[in-house]
Amino acid sequence: MTRILHRSSRSAPPVAVSAQGAWITQADGRRVLDACGGAAVSCLGHGHPRVVEAIRRQAGQLDYVHSGAFSNQAAEELAEVLVGHEPGGLAGAYFVSSGSEAMEAALKLARQYFLERGQARRQRFIARRQSYHGNTLGALAAGGNALRRAPYAPLLADAFSHVSPAYAYRGQQAGEGEAAYAARLAAELEAEFQRLGPDTVAAFIAEPVVGATLGCVPAPAGYFRAVREVCDRHGALLILDEVMCGMGRTGTLHAWEQEGIAPDIQTVAKGLGGGFQPIGGLLIAGHVLDAIRDGSGSFKHGHTYVAHPIACAAALAVQHVIREEGLLAQVQSLGQRLRQGLEARLGQHPHVGDIRGRGLFQAIELVADRDSKATFDPALQINLRVRDAALEAGMICYPGGGTADGLHGDHALLAPPYNASSAEIDLIVESMATAVETVTASLPREARA
Ligand code: PMP
Repeated sequence: MTRILHRSSRSAPPVAVSAQGAWITQADGRRVLDACGGAAVSCLGHGHPRVVEAIRRQAGQLDYVHSGAFSNQAAEELAEVLVGHEPGGLAGAYFVSSGSEAMEAALKLARQYFLERGQARRQRFIARRQSYHGNTLGALAAGGNALRRAPYAPLLADAFSHVSPAYAYRGQQAGEGEAAYAARLAAELEAEFQRLGPDTVAAFIAEPVVGATLGCVPAPAGYFRAVREVCDRHGALLILDEVMCGMGRTGTLHAWEQEGIAPDIQTVAKGLGGGFQPIGGLLIAGHVLDAIRDGSGSFKHGHTYVAHPIACAAALAVQHVIREEGLLAQVQSLGQRLRQGLEARLGQHPHVGDIRGRGLFQAIELVADRDSKATFDPALQINLRVRDAALEAGMICYPGGGTADGLHGDHALLAPPYNASSAEIDLIVESMATAVETVTASLPREARA
């Protein structure tokens, strides 16, 4: 009997006892190919010797100090690696223990930025429907994931409103070009600024590639340039949530590099520490730092484990490995192999509506009917069935549920390690195809159309 409060109280998950590279070994001795790194976390796979050694060394040298009293070398070096060359104007970093904490800190930093500049009215945030920014109540309020929000309504804050996601598969109208779609979404954001009163908005929040809610959905070309312009026009900040899609996952260190813009505040987490330690963070533009430094002088925020030395040392080692082993180029080439494999094996499948993503961040959306894009009845839990069938085939993928109102379908998300082998990528494609074929073949006829 397990004494852990698991996500499902009906069936406890299998116990993992060890992991190496892209493979996890269960207590029953079974080995499973880790095709999603948890939730797009394990970017170097498991047990990378350089990271393990860095953790051991740091634990022996300096395990913990409170960030209010001391800085530490690991945190300083990590910040230098991430923002020392001011990519896109980013100049400062702040390290926490998770993605949700990073989002909470981002919201408060944005608020404080405007307080420092004498604009106390800027208290509102605009985010997007069908997004996910974390499970703490502030981050949950920012997110637009109906399924995850509903049980906790009313949420703490009424400071959040939501506009449409950039989701071409369901949002782009027939005959509407990509540029026109992007322009329409930017106009919707502009209208939301006007509705709220532009000088009451602190920031617009978006994931450059939507992760957990929709499954690896990039925006149409030009979208981020257009929403950056809307924010600039109204003096609001742009917060980009790269907790899932960032730190190399899409083939560039930051997903926004592919959009020709840069954020004022960026959240990062999963790929930052690769799962070797819990760590998240903010990357902060120089002008936001300056407002704090020239104003009250301190960020009015903090947690006990801010800039934890062992977490920072692990993340520093992960970032060194990514750079020294040329893994961004590998994400691009393996990403192409994964995408082409999925398209070849599943591109014509009657229940695969869309295959999308960037780099080693790819997903398939499952539909009851390809032509109408009708979603499966959520009660069928197709995404969980596919996850279970994949596990049966020896691979773990990350599932996401669809909605009854057809806003989005079930999906399966793949996020293999950047240092996976080509053979492992091919095995992921085969196992995914087997899982989809097994589940859809076993469905009752009325569920399929
Ligand atoms: N933002 C995004 C985009 C995420 O995908 C997640 C986690 N799935 C979070 C925030 C929250 O991160 P955490 O689970 O580490 O709190």
